[in-house]
Amino acid sequence: MRNLKFIASLFFLITTGLAISTSADVNTSRNHLIIYHMDFNSVSLREDYIKTTLKKASDMGYNAVLWEIEDDVKWEICPESSSPDAFSKETFKDILRYSRDLGLEPIPLLQTIGHAEYVLMNEKYLMFREDPKRYDCYCTSNARVRQFIKSWIKEYLNLFGDVQYFHLGGDEANVFATCAVCSKKAREIGRNRLYAEYLTDIATPLLEKGIRPGIWCDMILHNPKDLEVVPKDFIIWDWNYWDGDKTPQRVMVWNKMKRLKKDEIAWQIWNLCLR
Ligand SMILES: [Zn+2]
Repeated sequence: MRNLKFIASLFFLITTGLAISTSADVNTSRNHLIIYHMDFNSVSLREDYIKTTLKKASDMGYNAVLWEIEDDVKWEICPESSSPDAFSKETFKDILRYSRDLGLEPIPLLQTIGHAEYVLMNEKYLMFREDPKRYDCYCTSNARVRQFIKSWIKEYLNLFGDVQYFHLGGDEANVFATCAVCSKKAREIGRNRLYAEYLTDIATPLLEKGIRPGIWCDMILHNPKDLEVVPKDFIIWDWNYWDGDKTPQRVMVWNKMKRLKKDEIAWQIWNLCLR
């Protein structure tokens, strides 16, 4: 599993009506996944529309779905965060059954650092915020946050059943490591090590079951000299808006805001995309 080759690309699929969709190839000795990103970040969709979209995705050759369902399921751990249009778990399980019957492997996505607006906007979770004035980012040093996320991951696993992969998000966490506690830790051990330590901790329920965790790439590629601190158990999902379904020849290095070729970047960065 450590030699898993990962290539991801992201593009718009206008026919689906979704705001954004992702396609990714995950090549392993066992399988080859072409993943459709079902993103409920800013939209609630009807059950019949979702099923129609899943059928289209299956017909197009996709064989997996990345489910970013956010507040569109009635979660027990944070019922106050659920959308008024949220699905009951039974309804969502029926959607998952339909999806599996089409040959689409489910991959859950739970945002565990940033993009947490639908949770942190609620007064109950004010103490979970990294910045009291913002409601997008968890404080990753807060032990209660870690316990909350781990419990939520377990609730996800109960809903999804057997999965091979679980995406922990982690992108665009713009105020990560800015509170007094986190910023002190980041100065002592480095931002990437702090980021990796948190993710490794919350991934415990996954690693115990042999489920491979994943994260987006942009945060650690802000500190590209310090990549090896992320355990190779993690799949790094590269944001790539440019290459369509072709094998990428460049990697976006986010602290430079440049897409660099293999011979222009440190081998650690290139290997990050191939490991
Ligand atoms: Zn903090």
